[in-house]
Amino acid sequence: MPNKLVIATRNPGKVIEFRRILDAIAKDAAELVSIDQFPDLVDVEESGTTFQENALLKARYTAKMTGLPSISDDSGLCIDALGGAPGILSATWAGQHGNDKANVTKVLDELSGTPDNKRGAYFICVSALVMPDGREEVAEGRFEGRILHHAIGDQGFGYDPIFAPLGMSISTAQMRAEEKDAQSHRGKSLRAIAPYVIEMLRGLG
Ligand code: IMP
Repeated sequence: MPNKLVIATRNPGKVIEFRRILDAIAKDAAELVSIDQFPDLVDVEESGTTFQENALLKARYTAKMTGLPSISDDSGLCIDALGGAPGILSATWAGQHGNDKANVTKVLDELSGTPDNKRGAYFICVSALVMPDGREEVAEGRFEGRILHHAIGDQGFGYDPIFAPLGMSISTAQMRAEEKDAQSHRGKSLRAIAPYVIEMLRGLG
């Protein structure tokens, strides 16, 4: 019987990718549980100054409140021409939390007139695993690319319609799910943390 692992995020786009990626590697070790099964949990204030701090804040809170192993991610888009912004502020860049359309429009406006060779960017994801006994593990993944001039594609979430992976002319919102997972920041960080998930959850018996 696999042990329970709570996915410490309410972002539907992330939840889909978490399930897709972790089920492919750790299905026998971890039964993924939605945070919606714990109605008393509130949204954690992301008061950290780094992706790692914020990822740990979310997973620690969830593990403490549920008494179960918990996994979270903190992720974002870092754009060279904007000095690394929106970075840890990616979800709220246009003001309202998780308004993907407004965030995309704001980035396109900020980069209007910026030539192709100055539109470099990367996605970053830090995954954090926290056990109820306090053991912790983190792993990072990056996805290099550039910002397109227009939004295109209807797959994925967030900034996917304006992000083209390095060497590709399509956006991540035009990629097949497995194609994105194979290259993405979330795919890389979850594959890096998966051996710890398997080891720590199996150790629970
Ligand atoms: P947070 O980790 O909850 O602070 O939110 C991260 C934000 O970064 C999301 O709301 C998205 O706007 C953006 N983001 C993170 N990963 C991706 C991705 O794979 N595709 C597109 N946008 C992403």
